[in-house]
Amino acid sequence: MEISRGEGKRSLRYKKEDEEVGSEVDGCDSDLSAAKPYHRRHKVCEYHAKDSSVLISGMHQRFCQQCSRFHEVSEFDESKRSCRRRLAGHNERRRKIASD
Ligand SMILES: [Zn+2]
Ligand SMILES: [Zn+2]
Repeated sequence: MEISRGEGKRSLRYKKEDEEVGSEVDGCDSDLSAAKPYHRRHKVCEYHAKDSSVLISGMHQRFCQQCSRFHEVSEFDESKRSCRRRLAGHNERRRKIASD
């Protein structure tokens, strides 16, 4: 997955070679090889997936449970775990949410 700092562009992905198992969180030394597949896949340890603010590439970010990736904390409301964009999208379309 990529950490996009743009406005939803998802064209470029220059990081493809993530062979090593490790968190992308700055200063995190968790060994993800022992983590759950979910956390391994998203390169975040359980602890940081729940942290309200972690430092990645020098930026404060939070793990979004809806997108399963990190966003800047400014994209979240207060202590929400889902980004504002995602929540807004949910409100707009009040249809059945496909299980995913
Ligand atoms: Zn961590
Ligand atoms: Zn999100």
